[in-house]
Formats: sequence, structure tokens, C-alpha cells
Amino acid sequence: MAILDIKVIDEPVLRRKAKKVVKVTPELRQLIDDMIETMRDAPGVGLAAPQVGVSERVIVVEYAEDEDEEEGAPPPKKKLYTLINPEIIWASEDMVDGTEGCLSIPGWLGDVSRHDAIAVKALNRSGQKVKINAEGWLARIFQHEIDHLDGVLYIDRLVSPDTLRRVQPGQEEVEEAKAEKIG
Ligand code: ZN
Repeated sequence: MAILDIKVIDEPVLRRKAKKVVKVTPELRQLIDDMIETMRDAPGVGLAAPQVGVSERVIVVEYAEDEDEEEGAPPPKKKLYTLINPEIIWASEDMVDGTEGCLSIPGWLGDVSRHDAIAVKALNRSGQKVKINAEGWLARIFQHEIDHLDGVLYIDRLVSPDTLRRVQPGQEEVEEAKAEKIG
């Protein structure tokens, strides 16, 4: 496993439409393992292959869904998703505004409107078909990461340019409790 370099905003690979994966090979699984390690090291809750310079349709997401926290309950368990060729097959009409950051745009946050709930189909790391229903923050993370595969960054989707604001790199989460560096 290796920690990969995360490409930042002016790198052309971030603006390219990524290629569909034709076959899940050992090399692809190696890339996925390295992406997971890179995401955890950053740390972020998601990462798309173009962010590490690979123009292929692969994302990894690791997130603990918020549940009603009871006093003394253990913290929610993180769930890891590896999605190859992810496609949004359904999206709610309900939209919700939320604050996003991106590992490829360090030091900035902005508000983006996303579908509150989505259904995604993809292949998992074994090459099997999966379907995932996601809502709230998890749905937001998937939409942000899948955008990366089409060369779209959250700054293209701001509810208003005024919401873009500077924060100390690495302090995004402190500045805005709910603003995770999505990836
Ligand atoms: Zn991102």
C-alpha cells in the first residue's frame, strides 16, 4: 500500500471525464487499496481516482452515518464503500444545502445544493454488481465523488459564489463542524 499524491485544483486530470473501467484487474485493486490509504491519511471521507491522477471511474468513500446518539453509546461505525463505474440511477426531488470542502481544493469551503437521497449502481472491488441507497451526508459524499469522475468540482455548483470561504488548511472541520473534507 502506498499513500498517493493528491492532485490540486489546476491539474488538468481533475477536469477530464474519467474512463469506464472495463475489467477489475489486480492493478485496479492495488489502486483501490492505495486510494483507501490515501483517503484515511488525508483524512477525508471520500476520494475519486482522478484526484490521484488516474482518469478512471473509481471512488472510495468511508463514512459513519449519523444516528441518534445515546448517552454513552459507542461512536457510529464507519462503513467503507468501493465503487467502480458508479451511476446515479435515482435521485430525490428534495434538494438540501450543505457545506463542502475538497481534498483537491485545500483551505476552502462552500455551500452546495445536493439531492437529499439517491440510489447508485456500481461494481464493487470484486467486480460484482451492487446497488446502494444513500441519504443525507452519505448521499452528498457520493454525489461529490461521482462529480469528480465527470471533471466537475463542487465550486462549479455553489449555491452562491459568496458562500465560498477561506479556512486554514487542515482546519476545515474545526471551522465548520459539519463540513467534512469530502474528498
Ligand atoms: Zn472533492
